[in-house]
Order: sequence, then structure tokens, then C-alpha cells
Amino acid sequence: MDKKVEIDSDSGFCFGVVTAIKKAEEELAETGSLYCLGDIVHNSDEVQRLSGKGLKIITHEELEQLKNVKVLLRAHGEPPSTYQMAKRNNIEIIDATCPVVLRLQQRIKKSFDVDEKQRPQIVIYGKKGHAEVNGLVGQTLGQAIVIENTDELDKVDFSRPIALYSQTTKSLTGFQEIIKEIGCRMHPGVKFESFDTICRRVSNRVEKLQRFAENHDLVLFVAGKKSSNGKVLYAHCHEVNPNTRLIANANEIDPEWIGAATSIGICGATSTPRWLMEEVKWKILSL
Ligand code: SF4
Repeated sequence: MDKKVEIDSDSGFCFGVVTAIKKAEEELAETGSLYCLGDIVHNSDEVQRLSGKGLKIITHEELEQLKNVKVLLRAHGEPPSTYQMAKRNNIEIIDATCPVVLRLQQRIKKSFDVDEKQRPQIVIYGKKGHAEVNGLVGQTLGQAIVIENTDELDKVDFSRPIALYSQTTKSLTGFQEIIKEIGCRMHPGVKFESFDTICRRVSNRVEKLQRFAENHDLVLFVAGKKSSNGKVLYAHCHEVNPNTRLIANANEIDPEWIGAATSIGICGATSTPRWLMEEVKWKILSL
């Protein structure tokens, strides 16, 4: 029986990632070498492709040892301490922080940069240790409280004002649950403000992605193991189509999954390159 294999046209890199990769490729075409602080995108196959062109991924510890070089900052953004370190070491920054993340950093900084007596507790709904979250916490001299779910709300003092923000790639539903819970626990008359800072490049995809997933017997969701956006979007696909499999690349396809499926959908995260989804398609067609 003929198989129909379709790639979701809405899946793939968001503009923040496209811009970061474009900046890296421009520099690599000119000089053949560029440092990047952390994975440029949470996709090891794409990182490998760019490494082949001369991109070198470094850690913060390695950055401290470098001097007089160019370093690209990826779309997730960085805390102020990174810019200070670069300045000390005469490092030229190619800043690819996504404008959406940059705006969020500025908003958090504005909430924090008020007189200490007026300052609310800055609460960030996000993943502890995630690069974007580190960049956000850095705007508050490390004082922001990061929570991953409502169970962690005990860290917050409900008798004091709260300003709640979200990491750009978190789920809207999770954010709404947190707003509701904080609202219930706030002491009467204490100010609570919440700012929906979830990137619509991600949240708008959910509905379309679910429609796509529902329309196929089998869905292969392609995303790197480190992509938090990938995990969120995969969960949404799995919710409407339990026959959804999460794979990093074509090598992880188990031919047994394909079995009797006649309609196979391929989709991915905002960090999934199009070429990787194409490879998955060709692998299926060759089985
Ligand atoms: S998901 Fe949104 S905020 Fe994050 S890099 Fe992409 S466009 Fe920017």
C-alpha cells in the first residue's frame, strides 16, 4: 500500500534561530572561524553542520580564557555578566539575542530597577539553568525566583508584591495555572501582576500542530534532546495522537513503527532544521 508522508509546513526554525544562524554563516563565510557561547540551536545535527564550517561551541569557562576574538551570543540571550567578561577580555560580541528575549530582559530589568522598598518579587516561570532563564535572572542580580510548576510556589512570599514573567518557550496552560494559584494564595490587598511573555512563535504553533498530528496515523516529531520547546510541542502532539514518536534524526526511526501506517506526518520544534525533517521523509520512503 502507498504511504503518504507529509512534512508540516509550519514546523522548523523560528525567526530568532534563523537570524542567529544567518549571522554565524555570514561570519564563517568571511573568516572561516567563529566562537559561539553554548549550542547555537538545541539541535546537535545542525550544530555539527555549522561546526563543519568552522563554528566552535564554547562554555562560559572557556570564554573566560579567550582574548581578542569574536564570539556569537545565540538567540537565548545572556546575563550582563557575560558582556562584562567579554569587555574585560577584549572580545568582540556578535549579538544574536532574539529581539523577543531582549525585550523580556529589559522588562524584567525595569521591574527590578526600582527602589528596594517598592520592588516586587520577580518570579519567572521557566526551567532552572536554561540559558534564556539564566539571562533573565541576571537582570535581577540573581534575585529572581524561578519556578517550574505550582509545587514550587512555596518559595514565594504571598504577603509581598509579585511580578510574574514567563520564559518565552513555556506553555500557556502552565502559565495560566500558575497565575490562578498565585491569585488564590495572595494576601488581600497585595499587588500581583502577571506578564504573558510567552513567544507566540511557539504557542501559536500548538493548535496547527495538533491539527496536523490528528490527521496522520503516525507522527514523527523531530527535535534535539536538549530542546525544551521540542518537549513542549511533542507533548501537545502526543496528547491528540498517542502514536507520536520523538526522534532526534532519521537514524532513530524504528521500522516497526511504520508497519501498517498509511499516512505519516513529520513535524518538529522551533529548533529543528528543515533538512533534518527531509532526511526523515526520505528514510521512511526508502524502508
Ligand atoms: S522561540 Fe520566540 S523568543 Fe525564542 S528565539 Fe524563537 S522567536 Fe525568539
